[in-house]
Amino acid sequence: MQRSVAKIITASQQQEGAGFYVRRPFPTNQLQLVDPFLLLDHMEPKQLAPGEARGAPDHPHRGFETVTYMLEGGMVHKDSAGNSGKLTSGDVQWMTAGSGVIHSEMPSTELLKEGGRLHGFQVWVNLRQRDKMIAPRYQDTKAEDIPVVESPDGKMTVKVIAGESLGKEAVIQTRTPILYLHVKMAAHAEFTQAVPASYNAFAYVINGVVHSAGQFAEADQLMLFGTGDKLVFTTHEDSADFLVLAGEPLNEPISRYGPFVMNTKSEILQAIEDYNSGRFGHI
Ligand code: FE
Repeated sequence: MQRSVAKIITASQQQEGAGFYVRRPFPTNQLQLVDPFLLLDHMEPKQLAPGEARGAPDHPHRGFETVTYMLEGGMVHKDSAGNSGKLTSGDVQWMTAGSGVIHSEMPSTELLKEGGRLHGFQVWVNLRQRDKMIAPRYQDTKAEDIPVVESPDGKMTVKVIAGESLGKEAVIQTRTPILYLHVKMAAHAEFTQAVPASYNAFAYVINGVVHSAGQFAEADQLMLFGTGDKLVFTTHEDSADFLVLAGEPLNEPISRYGPFVMNTKSEILQAIEDYNSGRFGHI
């Protein structure tokens, strides 16, 4: 059965980190979470002047995963476990914060010095209670290692970041079962994607107009889907560029405070205490 559209939300703009702007379709008053997804941030495509790029200096995370997908520009990250790396156009970083890391996410030196375009997404994926305190882990995946499938009629490409689409499986391993696709459709195309009935699912439009189940969404809009086992997307006279995310809900209590997402308030207080007493380490 095809999923219907339950809700369409237009993402509002807000300031993050050291002063960059993001569109955040959730969490908001209209939509608290799409279990197991806790947050979606869209760093909008923006031409930055030299010296203008901003990032997120040292900050902690515990209890979930952050997934960063760069479309344009470069970001460097460093963390308290001694890891460091650089993300450029098309790359994905899947960071399992688990028991805790302190990291920084900053513009690359080239972007800072010469200016340029920055565009990307970050999604937060919750971890089950039993996985919240696992050891931190990184999966930095270069653009060329992420499968991109083209439809036989050439009207569509699907980048398979997590899960499976059009017969291709992602290379990234996820703790919580997730589907994460970047879909580009030409005008007058159709795309059907199987999604397990137990998953929550949404699409977020980057550009163009995408139709599904008699409704449509445009840039900066999130389409939240109802129940069913497949999603059907069509384009009319416009092309469409959008993300599709779906995941198995955890259905567990959530206690969240800034960069910490746990099950109970006492676990949050413990996280704050661990952080304040230096148990997350230092960069
Ligand atoms: Fe972070």
